[in-house]
Amino acid sequence: MRVGDIEVTPVHDGCWWLDPGPMYERPEEEWLPHRQFLTEDGKLPCQIGGFLVQAGARRILVDTGAGKINDPSGGQLLASLAALGYQPDDITDVVLTHLHFDHVGWASDGSRPVFTNATYRCDSRDWGFFVGPDGLDESYATALGGLPATERLTPVEGRLEMWSSDVAIAPGVDLRAAPGHTPGSTIVVLSSGDERAVLLGDVVHCPVELLEAEWEFIADVDKALARRTREALAREFEGTGIPMAAAHFPDMRFGRLLPGTGGPRSWVFA
Ligand SMILES: [Zn+2]
Repeated sequence: MRVGDIEVTPVHDGCWWLDPGPMYERPEEEWLPHRQFLTEDGKLPCQIGGFLVQAGARRILVDTGAGKINDPSGGQLLASLAALGYQPDDITDVVLTHLHFDHVGWASDGSRPVFTNATYRCDSRDWGFFVGPDGLDESYATALGGLPATERLTPVEGRLEMWSSDVAIAPGVDLRAAPGHTPGSTIVVLSSGDERAVLLGDVVHCPVELLEAEWEFIADVDKALARRTREALAREFEGTGIPMAAAHFPDMRFGRLLPGTGGPRSWVFA
């Protein structure tokens, strides 16, 4: 995907195939209008990975996947990066949209940073919420074979730059607060010339969340705030033609939100 002079490429780490029911606590029939987001056997594909943003001389990795977990098909991020022609030391910046374990998985190997030349970046509110002795207990991360944020991120603390308000980290690469999923959840707005694209972090896990304003996602820390944030983004971007993607979208593909003309909004990939 090109956004003017900026190039953005999915870097796959793995995929979960989830039961959609428990994820949103919605009955099966409410999924009927949204079959495009499910597999033929009714699973919700939940991709894991990051996006490589190349802007000028900067090679920015937005999120780092889950790392090695109890899933033989997962843990592919470095191999995917190599397939694109890059090694970990080619990355200049690691931007963490939030600090859930499935986004910080390749930040370190548990003792050393993986991206040895990179400045690591995250929101200070998420750092306070997830990392350290008072950080959120992420025993579910351990249960899946991953490492919680504290263990994964302590080794990168010395090369961390935190933000606490909206900030441009490179020309055309803007970070915007979008709280609710986590306190410091952030979206990345890419701009070049009059072109735009948006990386949604986990503000949206599946495009269905931009179509169903009342649905709540199980992993949202503050569900009401997460809903308000999503609805505000949906209003801002519907009908603009601006491509949007998120790490958990099917195949991490971009799509566009179409306004409802007297009916519900709709989503088209690509
Ligand atoms: Zn996630």
